[in-house]
Amino acid sequence: MSKSKRVFVFLVIFFFAIIFAHATAFSFSKAKYVFFFIGDGMGFSQVDLARSFYGELVFLKFDFKGRVITTSFDGGIPDSASSATALATGQKTLNRVIGMDYTRRKKLKSMAYLAKSKGMKVGIVTDVSLDDATPAAFYSCQPSRFNYYYIALDLVNSGFDYLVGNDLIGNSKKYRNERPNIIELARGKGCRVVRSMKELYSFKGKRALILFGTKEFSSKNDVTLATFVKGGIDFLYNDRGFLMIIEEGKIDWACHANDVKNAIEGIKALDEAVSVAFSFYKQHPEETLIVVTADHETGGLYLDSSYKIKWGTKGHTKAPVPIFAHGTGAFLFKGVLDNTDVAKNIMRVAGLAF
Ligand SMILES: [Zn+2]
Repeated sequence: MSKSKRVFVFLVIFFFAIIFAHATAFSFSKAKYVFFFIGDGMGFSQVDLARSFYGELVFLKFDFKGRVITTSFDGGIPDSASSATALATGQKTLNRVIGMDYTRRKKLKSMAYLAKSKGMKVGIVTDVSLDDATPAAFYSCQPSRFNYYYIALDLVNSGFDYLVGNDLIGNSKKYRNERPNIIELARGKGCRVVRSMKELYSFKGKRALILFGTKEFSSKNDVTLATFVKGGIDFLYNDRGFLMIIEEGKIDWACHANDVKNAIEGIKALDEAVSVAFSFYKQHPEETLIVVTADHETGGLYLDSSYKIKWGTKGHTKAPVPIFAHGTGAFLFKGVLDNTDVAKNIMRVAGLAF
């Protein structure tokens, strides 16, 4: 072989080696099972404080970590409506808008509907109201987060499989007025409505609406995010996969009140739920993605070098929030991401078009 031919062959082999190495480094198997955890209001300092109090948290040991920009469409301080819409659809919108674009006219498609149309089962789990802004962005399209009755209607009409929250604001007398009862409508749409631990343990059915904000759910230890994530895995597990969105909403409430104790207890509750998902991941490591992040930071929490605690506000801030990811495709969540990228990357790893 002449020298020029040898050089040519070498260059061809080198070229394909580079392509192969690149493809290997950035390839991943599709996530069949996706857990998307959102700690409402959970900034870096809140996580730091929880770690200093409880020791290591499960999600802090995840393989990939990054930070997420949370600003709304106009670049301002986000509320849960705009930030959760970005996390659900990959599109920025204005504050107070749920699942619609900044004109308040165009409906946006959330990853949950894309998952459902691909045959995956969908679960929405929160420890606050199911029709509050963060969970709502995954199943509802409304120009205002305060259209509670219509948001609750969207929930019932979503066809999603496993719905858990502590109540439905939209079904209260104040918002329902003389209109049809949402619970009855849910039953008509194939939901088995569960309102006690007894009903939960004897549950049979294809679609569950679990409302735990009643006195029948008497044992506080049973009404945890971790319990409902575990129940969700049992309920949603199937050959086509599932997407489970889990919100810990009380971190935000605590931070609005500048209440450190309840804020870190909320993060602990979130972490216990993440731990359940992590056990599932260990049984299905090639097919599972777990993402933990926040919609925005609340309270402007600041820790000085000796962990003296200072709050900057009783409202939200524009501070970036942390993100932690583990499992297939998790490397896509490292570094600095916009909140719209979080949604797009989850859709990409789960094989959902956007
Ligand atoms: Zn808030």
